[in-house]
Amino acid sequence: MAEKSLRTIIIGAGMAGMLAGIKLLERGETDFVIYEKGASAGGTWRENTYPGLACDTPAHSYSYSFALNPEWSAFYAPGTEIKAYFEGIAQRYGLLPYIRFNTEIERCDWRDGRWHVTTKAGDTDSSDILVAASGVLHHPSVPAIPGLEDFERPWFHSARWDHSVPLDGKRIGVIGNGSTGVQIVSALAKRAARLVHFQRSPQWIMPCPDLQYTEAEKQAFRDDPEKIEAVRNGPDAAARKARFTAAIIDMDSPELSEIQEIVEKNLEESIRDPELKEKLRPNYRAACKRMIFSAHYYNAVQEPTVFLENKAIERVEATGIRMKDGTFHELDVLAVATGFDVGKFVRPMKFYGEGGMDLDEFWKKGPRAYYAVTIPHFPNLCLLNGPTGPVGNFSLIDIAEKQWAYFEQLVDLVRSGQAKAVAPTEAALETYEAARNKDAMRTVFASGCSSWYLDANGVPQVWPWSYDHFVEVMRAPDLSDYALVA
Ligand code: NAP
Repeated sequence: MAEKSLRTIIIGAGMAGMLAGIKLLERGETDFVIYEKGASAGGTWRENTYPGLACDTPAHSYSYSFALNPEWSAFYAPGTEIKAYFEGIAQRYGLLPYIRFNTEIERCDWRDGRWHVTTKAGDTDSSDILVAASGVLHHPSVPAIPGLEDFERPWFHSARWDHSVPLDGKRIGVIGNGSTGVQIVSALAKRAARLVHFQRSPQWIMPCPDLQYTEAEKQAFRDDPEKIEAVRNGPDAAARKARFTAAIIDMDSPELSEIQEIVEKNLEESIRDPELKEKLRPNYRAACKRMIFSAHYYNAVQEPTVFLENKAIERVEATGIRMKDGTFHELDVLAVATGFDVGKFVRPMKFYGEGGMDLDEFWKKGPRAYYAVTIPHFPNLCLLNGPTGPVGNFSLIDIAEKQWAYFEQLVDLVRSGQAKAVAPTEAALETYEAARNKDAMRTVFASGCSSWYLDANGVPQVWPWSYDHFVEVMRAPDLSDYALVA
C-alpha cells in the first residue's frame, strides 16, 4: 500500500517543537508548520534571560543526540550559549521557513478526521497530526504577596527580566530560592550594594564543579565525538543517572542516603556562621524538591553584601518589603523567582477531541496522558514533555527524543493506511495512572515537602519509575492499549 502523505502542525518552536520538525525533515516530510507565539525560536532559553542563567544538566547531555556541540564553553553551559545553540540549530537544519513566528494558537479541534487549529488572529489551518510542544515551565507564577503591585520601583518575574534596570551598586531583593533564585543570587551577590534573598523554605544544595572547558579540551571534542559521547553516556554519566533515579524512585534507597550525606556535608563545610547554617538547613529530605546544583550559592550568601531573610513577608510597600516581625528592607529593584504555573501544560489553548470532548473537562482532575505522550479521545495528538513524564535533573532533550521516536511509530500506522487515527484507550490511561499514582507515592518527591511536582492532592505528577524503564516503554507503543480508527 502506498504511503499516505500527512500534514503535521507543531505548536512551539522550543527545544521539543524544533526536534519534531527536524525529525520530519530527516524523513523527507516537508508538509508541516511550526506555530510559535514568540518572535524567535528557543522556548525557555528565549524567555529566561536572568543574570546567572545556566543549565544544571551537563551541556553535552543537554544537546540533541544528532547535533553534538564540541564548542560548549563549560560543563554546565550558560543560558546565552544554549539559546545560541538552538538558534543555530534552527538555521542549520533549515527549520526557519517552516516556523510562523508571532502566531499564537488559540484552539485545536478534531473534526472529520483532522485537526483544525485557529490562531489568536483568527486564521485557520488543518493537519492530520498535531504535536503540542508548548513547554512545561512556561506561564510565570507571580506570588499573591499583598502590596506587590504598589511597589514603585522596578520589579519583574525572573522569566521577564528587564535588562534596562541597573543592578550594579543597587539594593536588590530576590524572592524565591528554587533553581532560578539560587542562580540569580549567585550571579548578583558581588554586584549589588545589598542583596536580600527572601527564602520561604530552605533548599538542599548539591555541590558541583565550575568546570570551564579549555581550548585543548574543545579541540579534543571536535577531533573525536566519542569523547562527547563519553561525557553523555560514559561510566560517570551512567553512574550519576543510576544513582539519581534510584534515589528518587525510592525514598528509602541507599542512593538517597548517599545524596543526603553529600548535601549535609556541603552545608556543614561551606557555611561558617552557625546561625546562617541553621537558616539554610531544610527540614525535609534531599531531592524532595528539585535538586539544586550550585558551585557558588553558599559562597554568595556569605558575601557581606548578602542578607538571607527567612522570616515571613508581611507585605510589599512602595519602597521595599515589610516582614511580619516589622523589619523593613528598602529595595531599588525586586526580582520574583517564584516559579511557574505548571498545571497548565498546553493550556490556555483549548483542545476539543472526538465528539467535541473538551480537554479542560478531561483534565478536570489534573493533566494526564498515557505514558505522558498521548491522550484518549484526542487522536493523532502528541505531547512532548507532557504531564507525568520524567522531570527532575534529567536532560529533557533526551526525554523528548525518546517520546518522539515512540509517537512516530503511531504516525507510521496512519501513514501506511493501517489506521486513520490513533489514540490510547481510556482503560489504558486508567491502568497507567493507577500504577503511576501508587508508585509516585514511594518517590522522594512525596517524602514531605512542597514543590511544583505535586498535584492538588499531594501526589507527584511525575514519572515514578527508573530511567531505564522509560527507555524500555518508549521503544515501541503497546498497540493493545490503542484504539485504531480504520
Ligand atoms: P520553583 O522551583 O518553583 O521555586 C519557586 C521559589 O519561589 C521557591 O523557593 C518557593 O518557595 C518560592 N515562592 C513561591 N511563591 C512564594 C511566595 N508567595 N512567597 C515567597 N516565596 C515564594 O521555581 P524556579 O526556581 O523558577 O524553578 C522552576 C523549575 O525550572 C526548576 O525546578 C527546574 O525544573 C527549572 N529550572 C532549571 C534550571 C536548570 O539549571 N536546569 C534553572 C532554573 C530553573 P517554597 O519552596 O517555599 O515553595
